Amino acid sequence: MTEQQLKRLRSEFPILATRVGRESLVYLDNAATTQKPRTVIDSQSNYYRRQNANVHRAAHALAAEATSAYEAARQKIARWLNVPANTLIWTRGATESINLVAQAWLEPRLKVDDRILLLVSNHHANILPWQQIARRCGAHLDVVALLPDGNLDMEQYRSLLARQPKMVALSHVSNALGTVYPVKEMIAQAQAAGAWTLVDGAQALPHFDIDLAELNCDFYLFSGHKTFAPTGIGVLYGRYELLEQMQPWQTGGEMIEHVSFNETRFAAPPLRFEAGTPNIAGAIGLGAAIDYLSSIDRVAFESHEQRLLALCVDGLKSIADVSLLPSGQQQVALTSCTFKQLQVNDVATYLDSRGIAVRAGHHCAQPLMQALGIDSSLRISLAFYNTQAEVERLLEALDQFCSNTQVTVRGSQAELLEQVYSANDWQSRFSALMGLASKLKADPALQQEQFEVQGCATRTWMDLQLSDSGRLQLRTEAQSRVMKGLLYLIADRVNGRKPSEIEPARIKQELIDLGFASQLTQTRGNALMTLFNHLERLLPKG
Ligand code: PMP
Repeated sequence: MTEQQLKRLRSEFPILATRVGRESLVYLDNAATTQKPRTVIDSQSNYYRRQNANVHRAAHALAAEATSAYEAARQKIARWLNVPANTLIWTRGATESINLVAQAWLEPRLKVDDRILLLVSNHHANILPWQQIARRCGAHLDVVALLPDGNLDMEQYRSLLARQPKMVALSHVSNALGTVYPVKEMIAQAQAAGAWTLVDGAQALPHFDIDLAELNCDFYLFSGHKTFAPTGIGVLYGRYELLEQMQPWQTGGEMIEHVSFNETRFAAPPLRFEAGTPNIAGAIGLGAAIDYLSSIDRVAFESHEQRLLALCVDGLKSIADVSLLPSGQQQVALTSCTFKQLQVNDVATYLDSRGIAVRAGHHCAQPLMQALGIDSSLRISLAFYNTQAEVERLLEALDQFCSNTQVTVRGSQAELLEQVYSANDWQSRFSALMGLASKLKADPALQQEQFEVQGCATRTWMDLQLSDSGRLQLRTEAQSRVMKGLLYLIADRVNGRKPSEIEPARIKQELIDLGFASQLTQTRGNALMTLFNHLERLLPKG
């Protein structure tokens, strides 16, 4: 991959030219959603400008044109995945696809004490639909664990297959760790044990092409928006013999052969599962994304992604505060880490202030986080349009942040507080706030349920007492350093004063004027507002 080729490719993604302050946007949150090439964006406006009509009701030329563009998109995906077009159902995305299989295929066939086999690292979208139907039918979930190196415990997988699950629901790639699971082998083993198989490919297709005929699972699904296409469109592949036996999930227009009050016959798959007017523009956009992916050398881009991943992982390993999460033998260009001394939300907030977009949180994989003994991680997810310079900018920013916050920041608490208010620019104000927070003593006694402030994304506690002399005493504690600092600013304006002297709205405005609502990430900005609502509730009335 030459620099020139990459530059040309990046110019096809308009959003990548966005500037954040003086710097260009570094988008490393591709597992959440990918950016769209111009051809996909143009396909949307082209459809609405030139082709907009409802599909499968071709009483006029425009409707015929819309229908053929819409069905052509299905054909493109069929060729791309190497399966017949009538096995592909348009859905809203991965979540809807899995709900459809759980409710329309498995639930009517699930009996008391039947079993469903899942991976601990499945996305919530590939856990909750199964958990819901298991509850309703009196069935049980079995869960395959990870080994310490991040690989699946295949021995456990085989022993759980011996319990003869009805359904095995796998992830092709973990959205939180990036691990590529050996799904081909796992599907064959599940089939030998008599189970139906479903594979969630939401994080696989953005990185590599697959051949569904070769994988040979019963159901496979993905989301358009993670594969360079618009939001609100996805695909469910189902083995045709199963689709033929599957009753509709939703009923209404478009999915029937004949309707009368005495008898209704449903259309053949896939239309049977596409009740109502579909997301026509979305389907056409997904077709355009597949055209785009077919026009580039995906194998070459995958090795480019892998080179960036190696650079990123090596760089992260060299930062003392970073602990990488295990990723198993094979990994797409996605890596997750935690920090020994820092809170991942604080790191993400700082990176955001430098124009670098990453994800911090549980990544909709809370059971995996529980198994790893953490509650969140920082996830860096790359796409083929990312560059070495972007990874270097990330590593440099992380290194700076970790070393700045590790060395004891110079200055007393009072001096740092003064710097927060007097700093001329946001970077210095943020550093002073973090420095200030690092000086504050922990208050473990406050970390109790009755003092917890709900809705701050990370755990936060507040207690307000009135002394005998009628003065307020606000005690605060937070997991996140940013929150600790913000709480200190609030406490500084409250403590030692009488309730009548406190105007939360003024304190709030003061912090807003200093940039604490607009410059921090939205999550942190919202948390700040939550703190003030909570303070209002704690203040004595009257
Ligand atoms: N499965 C995996 C592996 C995912 O990463 C995601 C999205 N994070 C989903 C399912 C759900 O996708 P969607 O929200 O597009 O339905």
